[in-house]
Amino acid sequence: MKKIVVMNGSLEETEVEEAEVVEIKPEGELKLVDLPGVGAATAEKLDGAGYGDLISIAVASPGELVEVAGMTEVTARKIIKAARDSLNMGFQTGEELLVKRQNIVKISSGCNAIDTLLGGGYETGAIYECFGEFGSGKTQIGHSLAVQQFKKNPEGITVYIDTENTFRPERIEQFAVGAGLDPTAALRSIRVARAFNSDHQMLLAEKVDELITKQNLKVKLVVVDSLTAHFRAEFVGRGTLAERQQKLNKHLHLLLRIADKHNLCVYVTNQVMSKPDQFFGDPTTAIGGHIVAHASTYRVYLRKGKKGSRVAKLVDSPSLPEQEVAFIVTQGSLLDFA
Ligand code: ADP
Ligand code: MG
Repeated sequence: MKKIVVMNGSLEETEVEEAEVVEIKPEGELKLVDLPGVGAATAEKLDGAGYGDLISIAVASPGELVEVAGMTEVTARKIIKAARDSLNMGFQTGEELLVKRQNIVKISSGCNAIDTLLGGGYETGAIYECFGEFGSGKTQIGHSLAVQQFKKNPEGITVYIDTENTFRPERIEQFAVGAGLDPTAALRSIRVARAFNSDHQMLLAEKVDELITKQNLKVKLVVVDSLTAHFRAEFVGRGTLAERQQKLNKHLHLLLRIADKHNLCVYVTNQVMSKPDQFFGDPTTAIGGHIVAHASTYRVYLRKGKKGSRVAKLVDSPSLPEQEVAFIVTQGSLLDFA
């Protein structure tokens, strides 16, 4: 009888004894210890730091691995190369990319105006940064999105990383009722974790990968609300700005990696800082500056509008025009504002 096994990253057939069971070991299950120079202890360190599979290693920089696993840079380069080789990370044809894009799911925001702004909703495989002043509706959108993810895919899970203690199960219930859904079931589709500082927040993001690969949860949406608050509070003063940006960059790239690898949507919120010395244009800038802006696939700027409305403006998108729409937050939904 023939048996299919994985050899050098591809499926191959070999002759085996009649009674043996056919075993297909997908690429993702290749172990870290299969890499040259990675023993059990190093594998454990890497795993503990969020580099638990080959793809994470393949897209890491040597410096990162030196830092988390205490290996030499030469070894780090060697294992990154081996991981890349085993994953066949070459160029993809446009056709392959189109097929990949066909797997993208659009999650509604629960608001027609915002969906229109975003070309149909929030896509999986992308990071959305929503920035705006306090009370502009960033957290409300996060809640509504979590409810809509449940509506779209009742089997799917939302991971909500809450850094400001603003997650409210009651709001989830209200939005669920507003959308005609079972509020308890909607709540059950959400896993909330409070992040107490920036390191904890980064660790929680790393855990998302484990929830998917080790606990088989079908995570389709990750909300980080707020992305930057801890970073802003902990790194005060210009002296530590570079370090803050470096950590934020690492955090964002991890989020980008899980968005791409697991085809899930990432929604992060960001506050704006007042710049009282700026007289022209918008006197506010998003925290984290270009680092957050570059890592985000889509950026939406929120501000308060007339008569209690909120204005959402798409400011950065690979394929959509810049425009703005208005909506209003109500008890059970986000309504278009005419
Ligand atoms: P932030 O941008 O700081 O995250 P939020 O998303 O928390 O802001 O928005 C808070 C605003 O949302 C409130 O000021 C209020 O206008 C609106 N809001 C919150 N809960 C409700 C509710 N149950 N009914 C109507 N509006 C609400
Ligand atoms: Mg908020």
